[in-house]
Amino acid sequence: MSFLFDQIIFGPVHSRRLESSLGINLLPADYKFCTFNCVYCECGWTHKENSQKVKLPSRAEVYSELKKNLAKIQASGHHPDAITFAGNGEPTIHPEFDLIIDDTLQLRDEYFPETDVTVLSNASTLDKPRVFQALRKIDKNILKLDAGSKETYQLINLPRPGLSLKHIVGKLKDFNGNLIIQTLFVRGESQGKVIDNTTEQEIRTWIGLLKEIRPEYVMIYPIDRRSPEGDLEKISFDELRTIASKVETEGIKTKVFS
Ligand code: SF4
Repeated sequence: MSFLFDQIIFGPVHSRRLESSLGINLLPADYKFCTFNCVYCECGWTHKENSQKVKLPSRAEVYSELKKNLAKIQASGHHPDAITFAGNGEPTIHPEFDLIIDDTLQLRDEYFPETDVTVLSNASTLDKPRVFQALRKIDKNILKLDAGSKETYQLINLPRPGLSLKHIVGKLKDFNGNLIIQTLFVRGESQGKVIDNTTEQEIRTWIGLLKEIRPEYVMIYPIDRRSPEGDLEKISFDELRTIASKVETEGIKTKVFS
């Protein structure tokens, strides 16, 4: 069972990490499209079809839908805490991502100048200068790092061929600390292989990477909605707190979500 957003703009929804958040889905409404295929992804498994067949919303459609929704929220007297790029896959894949970011910042300034523009990304496209430059303009980059070792990264995130952990970490370091790292902890089994990013060795290696990246803070959380791989364990809040305290010992802040 999977969970897909069927519109370009959704919410505002109450998010466990972003409070009241108006979401933007730059991916197809009925189809997950991503450079990763995480075992825990609430959108289900990534399809292997040719990406040429995937229909993404146009920049003009996103602009008009966002404007309409912001005007409606303003008229209702509410105020979203965040405008968040999330949705059915990896938002930075969109070929007009950089231009859509510019539009969003302009509309945010017009309607809710206090609201943060946030991108949730798996960090796999940071080597594209237009993506990297666009992300540097926004308020909150929340970028994924689920593993310290390349083996666990492969098992949990199932990235497209050619997307190495080493390369991604190098790009995360280019943010000079102006980023938030998001890490989902999980144990279980997928396709006959043991998945576990909570082992002592794995945590030690992951913290080593965090020390190189020096993020503002690290979001630590367990699986939430149903994942495509059924045999996954939700890590307890207490265990996540223990992991967080090891990170904080290194002078890096954390926020733990259950
Ligand atoms: S990066 Fe996000 S959208 Fe892509 S597979 Fe992983 S959890 Fe799903």
